[in-house]
Amino acid sequence: MEIKGFTTRALNIPFAKADPHNSLQMPLYESVAFEFDSAEQIEASFKGEYAAHVYSRSSNPTVEYFEQKLKSLTKSHGVLAVSSGMAAVSNTIMAVANAGENIISGHQLFGHTYALLSQSLPGFGVETRFSDLKKKEKIEKLIDENTRAIYFETVTNPQLEIADIEMLAEIARKHDLLLIADSTLTPPNTFNASKWGVNIEVVSTTKYISGGATAFGGAIIDHGNFNWNENPNFSAYTEKFGDNAFIAKLRKNIYRNTGGSMAPQTARFMINGLDILELRVEKCYRNCLALGAFFQSHPKVKAVEYPGLKCSKKFALAKKYFSGVPGTIMTFDLESKEACFSFMNRLEIIRRATNLNDNKTLVIHPHSTIYAEFSETERSGAGIRDTMLRLSVGIENVEDLITEIERALNW
Ligand SMILES: *Cc1c(COP(=O)(O)O)cnc(C)c1O
Repeated sequence: MEIKGFTTRALNIPFAKADPHNSLQMPLYESVAFEFDSAEQIEASFKGEYAAHVYSRSSNPTVEYFEQKLKSLTKSHGVLAVSSGMAAVSNTIMAVANAGENIISGHQLFGHTYALLSQSLPGFGVETRFSDLKKKEKIEKLIDENTRAIYFETVTNPQLEIADIEMLAEIARKHDLLLIADSTLTPPNTFNASKWGVNIEVVSTTKYISGGATAFGGAIIDHGNFNWNENPNFSAYTEKFGDNAFIAKLRKNIYRNTGGSMAPQTARFMINGLDILELRVEKCYRNCLALGAFFQSHPKVKAVEYPGLKCSKKFALAKKYFSGVPGTIMTFDLESKEACFSFMNRLEIIRRATNLNDNKTLVIHPHSTIYAEFSETERSGAGIRDTMLRLSVGIENVEDLITEIERALNW
């Protein structure tokens, strides 16, 4: 029978090898190394003629099961699990662009991604050309023979701008560039990346996929829709590995040699996180809609942004790309920074913390925290107002959230 539902599929992904005890859970293989029956077998393994796990920095059965599960759920070509979202971003770009080459990206990026592109990678000769990713002509002007990729985030945080993915895919195809999406905010049950022409997805599985802030992790998803012959940095791999050139280059070079592997215990969290992902996203989404309606009707709330709300200017794009569920982060404005701070200080069940997609609802004042090191001009350019609060909406009973917010607003 063909299983359609995301959660049903998540719960029914077979193990690569039958478990001798018929375990229903993927066992945690907490082993650094794996032994061989004979010298001939270990030789065959090192030659790539016999598939087996050798050393857990390169591959591990529990981590492999997480990769296979995410691959199946995203209907993708290949998945590599790594130690964090930043490991997914950095490994991907290091595989794609060498010294003297460049990639194109936007101004609104996750802070550490921006730091990686603007501070770390230039030291290795890899340049990022920052552009307004909504403007086709501006992007095309920056492309030259050394451009290797366009890198964007599906929904930016905390501005909640939605990328024009079709337009980016058209430019990427026209210039034979790889299109890389950071889809952390829009989990795979709501976003079908390959349908819109994305070639590689990078994900911080720390966020939604971990099941609620249980562990650090990242994933690199190859949708199998890029011709790796278009990128000279893959020539050694396309010959030998064909369609699998990207994951092969990571496994045999960048990923293995930089040591950013996912720990087996972490993979266990991620495996269980995928089982409950759809449930959690749906609950957070319904809470966002209810909170959005509450904020809109409250006189002390000056503005509210959640692209899943029908009144949002971004609703049409949210519907087109993410089945109406553009992540579950929202922002709202109060009259002043002081009002934001007193609101935050009166909260009891909503926690003051910087993470996203925890099971708990989290609040932060981006202007004074995530953007603290930026000048006022940079902050206003990035749409960061000192009157704005960001909520990462959790799975609590929404009545409790509304009661709490109402009380905190009425001081
Ligand atoms: C958190 C985050 C990252 C980095 O992930 P880590 O797991 O913290 O390394 C990258 N991109 C986005 C959009 C994020 O929210």
